[in-house]
Amino acid sequence: MTTLLTTELSELDKKHFIHPTSSIAQQQAEGPSHIFTEGKGVYLTDTNGHKVIDGMSSLWNVNIGHGVKEMAEAAYEQMSKLAFTSNFSTFSNEPAIRLAEKLSKILPGDLNAVFFTSGGSESNDTAFKLARHYWILKDQPERQKIISRKMSYHGVAMGATSATGLKPFRDFTNANAPHFHYVNSSVEEFRTLVEKEGPETIAAFIAEIVQGAGGVNLPPEGYFKEIRKICDEYGILMIIDEVITGFGRTGKYFAIEHEEIQPDMLCFAKGVTSGYAQLGGVALNDRLHNDFKTLSKGTLLHGYTYSGHPVACNVALKNIEIIERNGLIENAKKMGEELYKGLKYLEEKHEIVTNARGFGLLGGIDIVKDSQSGERFAEYLSPLIVKEAAKLGLILRTVTYDHDSIVFSPPLIINKAEVEQMVNILDQAISNVKREVLKG
Ligand code: PMP
Repeated sequence: MTTLLTTELSELDKKHFIHPTSSIAQQQAEGPSHIFTEGKGVYLTDTNGHKVIDGMSSLWNVNIGHGVKEMAEAAYEQMSKLAFTSNFSTFSNEPAIRLAEKLSKILPGDLNAVFFTSGGSESNDTAFKLARHYWILKDQPERQKIISRKMSYHGVAMGATSATGLKPFRDFTNANAPHFHYVNSSVEEFRTLVEKEGPETIAAFIAEIVQGAGGVNLPPEGYFKEIRKICDEYGILMIIDEVITGFGRTGKYFAIEHEEIQPDMLCFAKGVTSGYAQLGGVALNDRLHNDFKTLSKGTLLHGYTYSGHPVACNVALKNIEIIERNGLIENAKKMGEELYKGLKYLEEKHEIVTNARGFGLLGGIDIVKDSQSGERFAEYLSPLIVKEAAKLGLILRTVTYDHDSIVFSPPLIINKAEVEQMVNILDQAISNVKREVLKG
């Protein structure tokens, strides 16, 4: 049932609101599919009173779930005391200092110093700029190139888009920043590209441990260890993008812990506040930080107005406290296993489902016409399945660049019954689409 409020807001939405990563044509034809008004735990409710499971933690970020009052109190408390002040130059504030210290404790290895941003794209742009500036300080200014992986997603700022391996994002403007190169997730290809381009021209390599927006693609076994070795051999900085995978998503605090290597920089955002405030950052290891301390003489000419925002930092501190107090990382590991079992069940049950995969509370399935050959449907089915699932009470996301996939990233607070509910709804949605579209 559509309420008057929904009708009014839909019209205003179409007139005035340009949505991020959206089809303007679809918006003008259909209006928004949900106007959400409330969230509680793993559930969202819209203006029609329709309650759905947020199977994506919204944008892979609401790790502690919706409607946590303590988070609002942390924001209120800090906003009432000191909402904002600059961290430029010699100014500082307590929540930013306390958060930087806390992060140094929970980040693996010697990632002990943090530069704050407002989100993932800014964090990756910051990492590229710090890498290039680092090489200027080290008297190797020709090290400009950044290598990233095909199918990666690193955000939409100019540098982050340029590093994004999903080509449609780069083709959107057809004018990317120079000195970005892309490789498949193959150690040999990486080595070949490094040697072809000349290691002395390469500043850094960036990768997500698990590619999120590219389809929840897991890394090949042993891949990162080998890449680390090549980076060490040629002095290339290794940047790990943990914007999705950080803060418990994969069943460890950070996904890099599964790989037993150390990056030089680690970018984070999303789960650091579970989306309750806008915050991201780049952590530097001791070697890099020490080099900056000794070599950097002038002003570090890079900083956002909101770098180290006191409210966002206070909210992040509360978020981390909640993750730890409630054992959410352990829960993500356990519930990740349940989700994976559920996806495997769907793969066995439906011949069009294949390649069920999981890594903590990240999951994915592919939809195929023929699971033997991997042939896909001419018209991808995942958008229909996801639309049907939403009607039945579950929000998911498709990935249709180079697959016909559905991905999963529920809040880390999810319980077994809720995982089962997700799997049951998806099961029903697949059956309905098969019946309607495939007449089978
Ligand atoms: N890196 C990764 C791995 C991401 O998934 C995202 C966002 N989905 C970003 C960077 C960009 O973050 P933001 O949208 O906060 O700029």
